[in-house]
Amino acid sequence: MITAIRDAWVITQDPQRRILRGDVVIDGERIVSVGGEYKGSADKEIKASGDVVMPGLINTHTHVAMSVMKGVVDDIPFPEFLDKVFKIDSDRTDKDLDIGTKIGCAEMMRSGTTTFVDLYYSEDVIAKAAMEAGIRGVLCWCVLDEEMTTQKGNPLQNCKRFYDSFKEKRKIMPGVGLQGVYVCGEETCRGAKEFSDEKKIPLTFHLSETRGEVNEHRKKTGKRPAEWLNDVGIFGERSIAAHSAWLTLNEVRAMGRAGMSISTCPTSNMKLATGGVAPIPEFIEYGVNTTIGTDGSTTNNSLDMMAEMKTLGLLQKSSRWDPTVAKAQELLDFATVNAAKAIGMQSSLGSIEAGKYADIVILNGGSPNIRPLLPENMISNIVYSGSSSNVKTVICQGDIVMEDGRINTIDEAEILSRSEEMWRSLCLR
Ligand SMILES: [Zn+2]
Repeated sequence: MITAIRDAWVITQDPQRRILRGDVVIDGERIVSVGGEYKGSADKEIKASGDVVMPGLINTHTHVAMSVMKGVVDDIPFPEFLDKVFKIDSDRTDKDLDIGTKIGCAEMMRSGTTTFVDLYYSEDVIAKAAMEAGIRGVLCWCVLDEEMTTQKGNPLQNCKRFYDSFKEKRKIMPGVGLQGVYVCGEETCRGAKEFSDEKKIPLTFHLSETRGEVNEHRKKTGKRPAEWLNDVGIFGERSIAAHSAWLTLNEVRAMGRAGMSISTCPTSNMKLATGGVAPIPEFIEYGVNTTIGTDGSTTNNSLDMMAEMKTLGLLQKSSRWDPTVAKAQELLDFATVNAAKAIGMQSSLGSIEAGKYADIVILNGGSPNIRPLLPENMISNIVYSGSSSNVKTVICQGDIVMEDGRINTIDEAEILSRSEEMWRSLCLR
């Protein structure tokens, strides 16, 4: 099956960061040519004259199934927030996990995301829903100390079972999650890391989100969380540390030496008023692979990566009193090539190049908010002026999951029509 996207502006995100004008041709799951005019015939023609084609965005930290819990814990202090969320989390059913995931996947497709890294339990239910939606899930089963969880059985064993059942599934990459140092002892952390190393799969965890977490851990162990995790041996090239806001320069250096990735969640941090701002310029300086996550719908409350790129840029510039930090091209890199590297898929995702998976977003070039549109201002327009409303068509691994504003894979109206009853059953208890 050949799909030809015709006459678009193509933000390739290739090593030269070229912007080309022309056709993008897809054969099955992969891109076969980029730029110029494709003279051959195609089974599917997509007219994209003047539209913008860019790589599908990659959200490296979320809890997608929480999309059904919007607005339940807003505007309250953090300890109260945690209390309430944990209570709801421990009481969820497969049905509301399924609906929550599908609402989240629909929102992600509509805002140009084709891959997301998830940290939650019940990833088996989430995987099935994501497969129906047709976008890629890097699904990291949440591991924590057995006495700290409401999961049935041992969380690491649950994670391993999930891996065995879903490792061959198309567009699903099972991974390992750690909730955070506050509920994960040394043995739990080591077990998770060993499994991630053995299977060569991502290991993601919350890290230094709040000052309280850092202080508590120092009281308990004499070390700051990142210091302690580094000493326990958790850092490595497959590690993705979400938040990473309250860090010292020594910790940043250790993270860089380990070749690991971070997922910064600016909206979540601001909304929860956790105070710390992730040290993005230092991450770049010391070689920490920087990526962006939205976090879940109880802390953001959206999964919109188009918005998150801009928010991150604004937060960094504002908090540093420096408009030159977190440049538009860097922000787009965080959400594409860097994120692909974080999940170990840099050879198949993150840019529009022949041989890579066709994970492609088409933005409507006829939208006033991104005009005037020229190669000279295109990256800036996408990051600072663009919005999810510009997303027209979304392709994930060759499948057209959304076309001309219509989702092809799941019945969006039916899912949304069930969302209020799910919210009431979960959140009014
Ligand atoms: Zn999170």
